Amino acid sequence: MVVNLIKCLICNEEIKNNSICNQCDNSNLAVFEKNKILYKGKKYNRRTWYLFLTSYTKIGKEEIIAKHTRENISYAYLYDIFIGNSQKYTFLGLLLPSIVFFVIAWINIIVGSIILNNNDFIVDGSVYNMKYFFYFLGVLYFLFFVITFYLWAIKKQKCYLAKVRGQTRYVHITKEKYCVIIKTFETLKNKDE
Ligand SMILES: [Zn+2]
Repeated sequence: MVVNLIKCLICNEEIKNNSICNQCDNSNLAVFEKNKILYKGKKYNRRTWYLFLTSYTKIGKEEIIAKHTRENISYAYLYDIFIGNSQKYTFLGLLLPSIVFFVIAWINIIVGSIILNNNDFIVDGSVYNMKYFFYFLGVLYFLFFVITFYLWAIKKQKCYLAKVRGQTRYVHITKEKYCVIIKTFETLKNKDE
């Protein structure tokens, strides 16, 4: 397996040609391979790595401090993980669904208008019922699109993956809450150095 990077997570520094960190003597180094991460005898993929290192930040500062203390990982690295997590899952949890809803809405509206123009499509029931059924679905999905797009583009909502009461969840947070978390990380990072 090709090792891409070895890192001391306490110092947030790359380690070269060594099995121990020169700065802090830490030997629990994180080994980043192409698709997985080895740390303290456990294997992680990107998703489980995010889950392992992202605190459920609803409580805020205390929870981030607890994670830092318990795992002995630099605030700077936890911060990078939080940023990566929220970028990836804001796309998967908000932008992508909004695009999918938009496409499904148009498919239904187009199918509805094709049915109106081609009476051959009817198996049973009336052409109007079928047409309005597809139009109804089209409008419904268009509404889903408007809501998710509004949350992403106007409200600037964010989303990240975290374990909440033992369950893996997409946690949606407001722009304000996101800014508070970012600011908290910035202050903690400065104390760290
Ligand atoms: Zn170190």
